[in-house]
Amino acid sequence: MISGLDEYDVQVDIDPSAVDALLATTPDDVAAADELTFARNVFVPLTTACRYTCSYCTYYDVPGEATLLSLDAVRDICERGADAGCTEALFTFGDDPDDRYTEIHDQLDAWGYDSIHAYLRAACAVALDAGLLPHANPGDQTSEQMELVADLNASMGVMLETTADVRAHGGSRSKSPGQRLNTLRNAGELGVPFTTGILVGIGETRRDRAESLLAIRDIHEQYGHIQELIVQPVTPNERWRDPGPALDIMRETTAMARAALPDEVSVQSPPNLAPVAELLDCGIDDLGGVSPVTDDHINPDYAWPALRELEAVADAGGVPLRERLPVYDRFIERGWLSPRIETELRADTAAGDRYRTVLDG
Ligand code: SF4
Repeated sequence: MISGLDEYDVQVDIDPSAVDALLATTPDDVAAADELTFARNVFVPLTTACRYTCSYCTYYDVPGEATLLSLDAVRDICERGADAGCTEALFTFGDDPDDRYTEIHDQLDAWGYDSIHAYLRAACAVALDAGLLPHANPGDQTSEQMELVADLNASMGVMLETTADVRAHGGSRSKSPGQRLNTLRNAGELGVPFTTGILVGIGETRRDRAESLLAIRDIHEQYGHIQELIVQPVTPNERWRDPGPALDIMRETTAMARAALPDEVSVQSPPNLAPVAELLDCGIDDLGGVSPVTDDHINPDYAWPALRELEAVADAGGVPLRERLPVYDRFIERGWLSPRIETELRADTAAGDRYRTVLDG
């Protein structure tokens, strides 16, 4: 049993010797990728209500201040994104608003929705109508919640962050690693192409990082659904004063991620948060979603780089930069997408054949 997973009802088998072997990995043990990919997206912060209070997070707002984006606002963001050539609507969430968020529940009720996931479904439909492929990241999800929205998403995601119990997740409403792993399992059982990742520097140990990576690998080996793994450093902000992890920790962790996961799973480093140019030789092959339209609402102090900056990173590494969709090609080729998403990809009628251009590029 991995430390910290008392409530863990996912069957994940981590061999302690595999943890030791992964901890011995260095950047010299992995190969640099032969290309870098990225996606063009818009951030759609559907709600800033969250039942948790992670101490490094500036995304959530307290009850009384939390917002719920109207569908008109969702449409406006998505249409601006489509006009700017984006392909992805990234729906960001706090976790399910709990009983304290009475205004959010009242607003949902007034708009005719009995849950935040019912509302997310409506928002995904708005994004599709505007010509963007939804990728929703609504925190922990039960199988029933995920099933309610899965067919309107090209892919979905949630950061595992860590399998360890860390103080940064603590407090009266503590985020549970076991619940995050259950969400990864639910996605696998439902056949949802999925993005996850680890957050580095929130009080976890090296061994915790290795165990987290191996837990993700184990779930991927069961279902084959993990499309990319993000190695994200925590960054200082108004709620988190500690510095982010040192470069050598990011390099070691990125190399461990590359070594832990099979080649088909991309290792992603966010270019507005991590020193990506200094991680190229540690095996990253993806720079994630960047937006020409919206801020990074999760890390508002850290602006997206322009496309030419991503090109400069790729040039420095001597590799090409290629745009991708929010779902990786192999899931399209293997028939993982829902009929609705398949139809959107085939028709590609909205605003200039963006999906085809990306797929054929
Ligand atoms: S990190 Fe996610 S789960 Fe934690 S408080 Fe922020 S929005 Fe909520």
